[in-house]
Amino acid sequence: MQELDNPTVAETKRFLELYTGIQSYKQEVDANCNITEAPFGFRFKPSSVRAIYDADYLLSQQEKGIELNPAEKAYREFCNQKIRWRHRIRHECIPADKILRVWRERQIKRAKFEFGAERDDYFIHVPLMFELAEGCSVGCWFCAFSASKLSKLLPYSVENANLWRGVLKAGIDVIGPAARWSTDYFATDPLDNPDHEKFCRDFHEIMGMWPQTTTAIAHKNIERLKGLLPESREAGCRVNRFSVITTKNLEKIHNSFTAEELRDVEIIAQSQDSTFMKAKAGRYIDSAKKSKKIENREAEKTVIAFEDTHSREEATKLAAEMEDQAGSICCVSGFLVNMVEKTIKLISPVGADERWPLGMIVYDQADFKDEKDFPEVLQMMQNRIKLRLDVNDIPRFSTKAEFQLLEHGFQLKSAAIKISFTQEGYADVLRYVGELINEGVKSANEICLLTFYKTSKPMQLTMGILQELFKGGYLDEDPKTPSQGYYKNGGPQMIGELNEKVKTAKEMIYSE
Ligand code: SF4
Repeated sequence: MQELDNPTVAETKRFLELYTGIQSYKQEVDANCNITEAPFGFRFKPSSVRAIYDADYLLSQQEKGIELNPAEKAYREFCNQKIRWRHRIRHECIPADKILRVWRERQIKRAKFEFGAERDDYFIHVPLMFELAEGCSVGCWFCAFSASKLSKLLPYSVENANLWRGVLKAGIDVIGPAARWSTDYFATDPLDNPDHEKFCRDFHEIMGMWPQTTTAIAHKNIERLKGLLPESREAGCRVNRFSVITTKNLEKIHNSFTAEELRDVEIIAQSQDSTFMKAKAGRYIDSAKKSKKIENREAEKTVIAFEDTHSREEATKLAAEMEDQAGSICCVSGFLVNMVEKTIKLISPVGADERWPLGMIVYDQADFKDEKDFPEVLQMMQNRIKLRLDVNDIPRFSTKAEFQLLEHGFQLKSAAIKISFTQEGYADVLRYVGELINEGVKSANEICLLTFYKTSKPMQLTMGILQELFKGGYLDEDPKTPSQGYYKNGGPQMIGELNEKVKTAKEMIYSE
């Protein structure tokens, strides 16, 4: 018998799925937290965990010095465990290989600058990811990856099983144990592939971990999931996800699984009714452009989210400030391997824009033929990764950065944060280097020479500044810009190898 005054964690979680997924129920609860009838025949008394969903109430309780009740404490601890689990994965995703590790660190810094530390925390930056299909059967109107229609699947034949197992082993060899945190879907739905479980079993045997399943077609695969969820749990997988696109699907899922069975399954309520905000990327942007209704509805969700902690007026202002903040759902900073097309891409998250509408930068791409050449191709791509700025590169600030001169240096501002580069005694160098990078036409070598002639500061100092900016992810690494290009041409060069085009730095200064 369900205890209405002391619900279990699974029951509280189910209540929250209904509260955030169905507007009319949310309104009923907000008007009366003692109602016990919830949608789909579920019985729950919201007042038993009010501090979990009502921020104002929580604050008033804290002001009175009243502690959380046992049900609220248990749910809070459940959430904290999830956060710890995510942090553990993020930490264990650090590649053993130095090149990939340094590159991933740079991508994380770049993403932190663009999105802010809090939003970046949601990106795991997994170094490896697989797809076992081409396209996706679901066709969500908000798909941030604009996934194409499902066109091909990788069946678990003897040949493909050998390919898969060989590729997984190479992943571990090249990347290290961090590869175990990859999964077998990206811009695809894993349950589209009827052999997903077979591929997962191989993955578990080789990687020592069962890959997470995130699916938007749980409602069509109830019996299959009744087997998959416990099997994945037993094999160490702590989180699976159902993306729920309509209220009808949520009803089917809730009626088919008990709250306990879905305790470790995150239900992402994506229905129009839900309070869950969509990432502004890919197909979402196209849909919002076509429909004012969608745009307004999503804008209102942002206001509601801020209303938890701000007045309506402040929340509206904050939401308006966020309006132009680009989105991304790319959780990979590493290799994305499509097993059907036999392609490998080196990708990382970025706020969707005209250049990268899917919210991910594609730094490099290559094809492979089979499990024999896969390790070589992966290694070749890894070797093409640049660890430092070359003297002939033309440093430019990230397109997400707004440059401003300061008295003792300069400042870069993204949509999320401002960061100052200042140092007394070095203001002249920093200001001049900042200006030259902002112009975006001089090579690293030219910047070092020009700065030397203008400020008499050693070229090594300027090169050091440039390398630090590169390492910090503040410089544009667009692979499409030929002069900057991602591909190494000959590896890092020494500062003494001067650009022949520079006749004398003095001439350059005075010809400006
Ligand atoms: S959001 Fe996921 S399920 Fe929906 S179309 Fe895109 S890849 Fe498929």
